[in-house]
Amino acid sequence: MTGWLLLCLARVRGPWWAQLLLATCALAVAPMALFLDAVGVFLREWRIVGALGQTETRCPRGHMVVLSGPSAAWTCSSCAYTYGGASGWGRCPRCRSVAAYVSCPCGLSIDNPVFELVDDAR
Ligand SMILES: [Zn+2]
Ligand SMILES: [Zn+2]
Repeated sequence: MTGWLLLCLARVRGPWWAQLLLATCALAVAPMALFLDAVGVFLREWRIVGALGQTETRCPRGHMVVLSGPSAAWTCSSCAYTYGGASGWGRCPRCRSVAAYVSCPCGLSIDNPVFELVDDAR
């Protein structure tokens, strides 16, 4: 929201007094915009931490899929590195990419909730 506010300010055209008035209004709401941005970042991180704490999930057919622990093993879809012990929702330890999904042994995919929350994964 802060970025949007600054972008609007940069695009303002018109007489100097209108620009000054708009800049004053923008400065008045800037603390609220920063606060809302901070709340958004906190909630996103909270959801990531919650997802990374999951030890298992279910596929659309209802099969239990273990996400972390000694029996969990993952192959990175970006670099093909195979690793275990880490969460299936987490980053590949080799290339640091986040998988968009994990696969159930039945063949169906399960969307990774972390993928949409991480900026560099898109
Ligand atoms: Zn990788
Ligand atoms: Zn399944």
